[in-house]
Amino acid sequence: MALLLVDDSLDIRLLLQVFLNDEGYTDLLMASSAREAFAILGVDTEKEATHGVELILMDIAMPEMDGIEACRHIKTVEHLRDIPLIMVTAKTEAEHLKEAFNAGAIDYITKPVNEIELLARVNSALTLKREMDRRKAREQQLLAVKRQLEVANEELLRLSSLDGLTGISNRRRFNEFLEREWRRAMRGPRPVSLILIDIDYFKPYNDALGHQAGDECLKQIAEVLELAAQRPSDLAARYGGEEFVVVLGNTAREGALRVAEAIRQRVALLSIAHPSSTISPCITLSMGIATGMPCAELSPSILIAAADHALYQAKQQGRDCMKVAQLGQKAGPFK
Ligand code: GH3
Ligand code: MG
Ligand code: MG
Repeated sequence: MALLLVDDSLDIRLLLQVFLNDEGYTDLLMASSAREAFAILGVDTEKEATHGVELILMDIAMPEMDGIEACRHIKTVEHLRDIPLIMVTAKTEAEHLKEAFNAGAIDYITKPVNEIELLARVNSALTLKREMDRRKAREQQLLAVKRQLEVANEELLRLSSLDGLTGISNRRRFNEFLEREWRRAMRGPRPVSLILIDIDYFKPYNDALGHQAGDECLKQIAEVLELAAQRPSDLAARYGGEEFVVVLGNTAREGALRVAEAIRQRVALLSIAHPSSTISPCITLSMGIATGMPCAELSPSILIAAADHALYQAKQQGRDCMKVAQLGQKAGPFK
């Protein structure tokens, strides 16, 4: 790291050099004018100066451009702004010094230069600069760690709301989503529909073809459901085991039936062979549909229970079909 001495007087430059060398500062750069100093610092190149100047000692009275003007200009350059600059001056009137500080100088040394004063001021400016650099580096490190943590947290949040096998939302996310959609629907009020879906004879499927085939089947069904839940107010989730659920915000019964029918057709198109099903050569689904208008008497859990009951009826009535829940009068108006 170097010190840059800017003075139009060769004698002063040499004197400063002798004093600084005595103290062990050997890496010194010399400039006889503001222009030379700018060239060394890379003022107009917008690139970091390669010399790594750590401190500037600047004469005030110089031809062409004086030290105050030069200081002001250096402080406008982003990569030079933090280099401490000490003015070296014969003029010590308050007005003059005020101007130097306003331009961005952190200190001044009077001419004729006194060795002890020079070294004390240079040492303290450098100590301050190094401490600031250390802090800045620590801040950067902390910022980088903070960013890494944010990324990790996002990933954790994402993973904690997704089902590990199928990659669609899990039950936790379903519960959150339904609560949120419910509150939103309340303001309308607008209907919310649920489709609870259970794969028929899935245990025999696993038994016949193995658990891995069962997993593959679950993934394929999940894909179909994800495709069916297209709107921002829709969500497909794995409810548990071989049960799934689709939330349809702002959707009345007719809409829910349409979505359920589309799911049934898409699964039929998949034609996943099921050798041990007694009702079809391929995988089929049973579905329970419930629609409700959010109100004080109707909670999401009542809607879930209603869909569950309808699903049970679908199973009772032979599977591979869908049943619509009839919610009681007390539970509020329904579409
Ligand atoms: P039903 O038609 O009445 O729904 O009969 P079912 O056999 O589908 O229902 P049951 O509840 O008896 O069995 C569910 C099966 O789902 C049992 C279990 O091994 C299987 N299952 C649950 N989760 C997974 C999973 O993650 N992977 C696989 N391969 N199978 C699973
Ligand atoms: Mg089941
Ligand atoms: Mg089942």
